[in-house]
Amino acid sequence: MIARVVTDLALDRIFDYIIPEDLLPVIRTGSRVTVPFGNSTREGFVLEVTRFSTCEKLKSLTGPAPGGANLPEKLLELGCWMADYYCCTQEQAIRTLLPGAVRSGKVKPKMRKFCTAADAAAVQSFLSLHSGQKAFAGRCEILRMLLESGGTAMDELVHFYNFSTSSIGTLVRNGLVRVEEREVLRRNAHSGRVTLPGKPQDPTPDQARALAVVDDMLADRIPRKSILLHGVTNSGKTEVYLQAIAKVLALGKSAIVLVPEISLTPQTVSRFRARFGDRLSILHSGLSDGERFDEWFRLQRGEASIAVGARSALFAPCADLGLIVVDEEHESSYKQSEAPRYSARDVAVMRGKLENALVILGSATPSCESMLNAKNGKYHLIELKNQARNQAPPAIRVIDQRAYGPPEPGKSTFFSPPLIDAVKSRMERHEQVILFLNRRGYARVMLCDACGYEARCPDCSVSYTYSRQRQTLECHFCGGVIAAPEVCPQCGDPKIRYSGVGTEKIEAAAHAVFGPARIARMDSDTMRSAADYEETLGKFQRGDIDILIGTQMIAKGLHFPEVTLVGIINADAGLAMPDFRAEERTFQLITQVAGRAGRGDLPGEVLIQTCKPENETIRCASELDFEGFMNFDMEAREVMKYPPYSHLILVHFRGEDEDLVRVFASDFSRRLEAFAGEGVRLRGPAPAPIDRIKGKYRYMTMIFGEKLGIIRRALRQMTLHEKAPDGVDVFVDVDAQSLL
Ligand SMILES: [Zn+2]
Ligand SMILES: [Zn+2]
Repeated sequence: MIARVVTDLALDRIFDYIIPEDLLPVIRTGSRVTVPFGNSTREGFVLEVTRFSTCEKLKSLTGPAPGGANLPEKLLELGCWMADYYCCTQEQAIRTLLPGAVRSGKVKPKMRKFCTAADAAAVQSFLSLHSGQKAFAGRCEILRMLLESGGTAMDELVHFYNFSTSSIGTLVRNGLVRVEEREVLRRNAHSGRVTLPGKPQDPTPDQARALAVVDDMLADRIPRKSILLHGVTNSGKTEVYLQAIAKVLALGKSAIVLVPEISLTPQTVSRFRARFGDRLSILHSGLSDGERFDEWFRLQRGEASIAVGARSALFAPCADLGLIVVDEEHESSYKQSEAPRYSARDVAVMRGKLENALVILGSATPSCESMLNAKNGKYHLIELKNQARNQAPPAIRVIDQRAYGPPEPGKSTFFSPPLIDAVKSRMERHEQVILFLNRRGYARVMLCDACGYEARCPDCSVSYTYSRQRQTLECHFCGGVIAAPEVCPQCGDPKIRYSGVGTEKIEAAAHAVFGPARIARMDSDTMRSAADYEETLGKFQRGDIDILIGTQMIAKGLHFPEVTLVGIINADAGLAMPDFRAEERTFQLITQVAGRAGRGDLPGEVLIQTCKPENETIRCASELDFEGFMNFDMEAREVMKYPPYSHLILVHFRGEDEDLVRVFASDFSRRLEAFAGEGVRLRGPAPAPIDRIKGKYRYMTMIFGEKLGIIRRALRQMTLHEKAPDGVDVFVDVDAQSLL
């Protein structure tokens, strides 16, 4: 028999090897094997076992890779589809399926020495002979304890029960105690936590309707389709997920729940843990290699049957998968920005199809892509229109910031008078406030009024952001940092000023305006670790913080019943982005932030400050009019034939020599045009909106079209199997989310 093997080298090629007779029983699709490759050996995965090969001279594979985990066959199939669809090499796709810790074979299971009583009869006679004898007291006690417990870890006997290692050693030598190595799980941040068990809540009529559809699909009474669960904020989507998972578990199947990394909060986790206890496996970015290794095998062996995590949890090796939930399906963070540039939401739908598992995509603001799929009947749309606890939606007021002049330093007009009054009244009533601005740092730009100099990162075509706390100018694209100058670097004039606004500046202004209030800031500058995040959220939860200021980090998934006011500082900030999704993102963000107000018994209020109150997106968001917004945005996209009315592939060209990049990009795009079938439009190459990052020039070509299969195949060939000139990087982003 022949094994078709994909090696660890990113060659996008498959190599055939003979399977030696004695290995036939152990080698199957998905096996990790070692193979001779040139003069060395390599590891790889068996993609297929077949009888025939077109190659003439075949070598034999060496054997199963030591310590390597095999891939479930269906996952392997998913990987091959990803390689094809997202134009990456087979190797890149397959690497994504397995965590490095599992793939490498370097991490080993953690072993622990366990002591048990060796021979009951011998132990009993030892006890009856020596009980009461002082010299044997310790040894008798150890034996009694081991009989009673059925076995205890050696280190526990020593450190916890204070038995001496020499007594244990003597018992072992005398054949009374047996020591064996057992595999144990590493303790991770979630394993030690005690959570009170939680019971399912009585479903609301909306939730009951949704769950009935899940039942019908599980029982194949209606055709299985991906479910799009559109539920307004606070409508209880999570409860639907939890009960749907319970149904699937009852059938003996497993489930995967994807959440954006940012919403993998202690709050979310404890809700799942309360319902499912140890059947849960939390896959978060803070796991060590060893912990990740343990969780992977726990899921593969079926000891855990629910994987909860961000993007990559989609590839959890759950056997007999019954359900995949993608929460906040519209989140752009489900798209990976490095190869393979896959969308976890879309791959989830594909995995569901391959493994016949139900897929639920949930959101308060579903993406245009998913809404169109629902409209076309590809997805089954379920709406949760009412808030779960009969709360009123928050009252929303739009404040025309133009009436109060531009936000300038010294004038403190980041806060309009209505917002100041609203915050102060909350402070008097001891209620909590969230102030939102989707921009970190202090000021956006450093300007010199004397010569017009603007401080920009020399390697990226973007302005520096000023941090007052650190007295630095920072580039948010390459991470470059320089000391903030005291005089203009160009003309030496000391009258430099900083304009624009970031969360750091809002925090400073809030201290000035709201005096004694306890204020905290939550953005990627202040939240350097998961512990920072948890600490600040804990303080806010306990009421030790009055005003929480933050970026989109505070927009999602948080539930603080005492928050009665949300202030959105500059609602139109995102609208100016050169991206056809700018409106959609702005709408989603405002809706999400607004949803943080009034989640408890007290009514919530949201103040939206904007310089564009007449803008359709702002208007729809302020009226919580999702349908109105969809009609408006989808119509605009249909006219322009933008996604979801077409697919979009971006081809990126990057390099330090601008001429070289531009010329190559033009040649490449001209060749590509030959493969553009009917209705396929190529645009560019043109400089990307941010045309230089880390000293590299950036060009891109956009490809729009309903059917891009042919051009995608051409792109695979041209990017993976042809060599670009030295100094030029080319890569493909299928279904691109970011146009920058
Ligand atoms: Zn100057
Ligand atoms: Zn930079």
